[in-house]
Amino acid sequence: MSDLNVLQKTLALHEARWWEPEANGRVHCYLCPRHCHIHPGQGGFCFIRVNRDGRLFTLGYGSPAALQVDPIEKKPLNHFLPGTRIFSMGTAGCNMGCFFCQNWDISKSHQDQVNSQPVAPEQVPLLAIRHGCDAIAFTYNEPTIWGEYVIDICKAARPLGLKTVMVTNGYITYDAFHEVYDHIDAANVDLKAFTETFYGKITLTHLEPVLDTLRWLKNETSVWFEITNLMIPTLNDDPEETRKLCDWILENLGPDVPLHFTAFHPDFKLQDKPATPPETLHRARRIALEAGLHYVYEGNIFSEAASTFCPSCGMLLVERSWHKITKNRLKEGHCPTCDLAIPGVWSRVQSQIRQSSVL
Ligand code: SF4
Repeated sequence: MSDLNVLQKTLALHEARWWEPEANGRVHCYLCPRHCHIHPGQGGFCFIRVNRDGRLFTLGYGSPAALQVDPIEKKPLNHFLPGTRIFSMGTAGCNMGCFFCQNWDISKSHQDQVNSQPVAPEQVPLLAIRHGCDAIAFTYNEPTIWGEYVIDICKAARPLGLKTVMVTNGYITYDAFHEVYDHIDAANVDLKAFTETFYGKITLTHLEPVLDTLRWLKNETSVWFEITNLMIPTLNDDPEETRKLCDWILENLGPDVPLHFTAFHPDFKLQDKPATPPETLHRARRIALEAGLHYVYEGNIFSEAASTFCPSCGMLLVERSWHKITKNRLKEGHCPTCDLAIPGVWSRVQSQIRQSSVL
C-alpha cells in the first residue's frame, strides 16, 4: 500500500466524538439537534458519520472535498479582517436538507461520491500560509458535522497566528457547542428564515436550535459573528417576517451584529422560484435599519449596500465593489469623522471591538 493510501485510510477512519452506544449495536449521535440513532453499517442524516461495529466514525476527518482561496468578504464577513484572503474548505454531507442548497454537489453527496484528498489537520495551516491567507474558513458544507477535524485544524492554526472561521447553519447541540466554538475566532451564521414552517418544509430542520446557537454565541463566547438571511421570493421575503427577524436580533443580540440580506438564484430542488429582485433586498434593508440595526448589507447583487457606513454620522467607512475593498477610511476601528468605535476585528494586531450589549 502506498504512503498516500495509508494516510487516506488512517484519516478516513477517525473515531467520532459526541456519541453514545445503544442497544443492539446502535449508536446515538448528539452532535446536532437531529440526534440520529444509527444502526450498524449505516450513516446519519449527514452521511459522513457512520456506525461501524457499534462505534461512530467520522468519514469527513482529513478528507476535504473542496479547497479554495476566497476573499473573506465572500463568507460573508464584513467586520473581520477586511480585504484579506481566507483558505476555505469543506467536506461531503450536511445536517440540513435545504431545497435551495447552492453547494448540493458536495452537501448532498456521500464521502465516496466526492473527489477528496487526504489532508491531515496539521497540513491545513501550512497550506493556508503558503497561499497568503490570514485565516481558515470551514465552509461550503456544514462544518459542524466534521467538528472533530475543525477542532484539530484550529489547534494547529492558532500557534501559527491564523484565525479560524465557521460558516454555519447554526445547527449544533449545546453538548458540542463549546468544544467547537472555544477554538473559533469568527462565524457567519445563516438565519435562513424566521418561521418554523420554512425551516420544517424547506430545510427539514427547526428554527429554535438556530436561535439558541446565536444566543450562545452572543452570551457565552467572544467569537465575532455576523448573520446571513438568504431571501427567496414568496418563501421568506414577507416584510412582516423580516421585521420580526430584525426585532429578534435587536432584542437578543443587540444592534451591532452585522446582518447580510443576500439574493437567491434558482438551484437544486428549488428551480421554480425566480432570482430575488434587488428591490426585495433594498426593502429588507430599510426594515432592518428602521428597526434599529446598525450594520445591514446586501449581497449576491451589485449594491452600494455592500459598503459599511457609520451609524452615527453616516460617513462611508469601508467601500466595497462586490467582494473587493475599494476604500477603507477606518482609523484603528473608529470613524474618522465622529470617532465612533465600529465593532469588529479590523486588523490582526487590533483586538476586537465588541458588539454592544443587548438593549
Ligand atoms: S451530526 Fe450527522 S449523524 Fe450526528 S445527529 Fe447530526 S445529522 Fe445525525
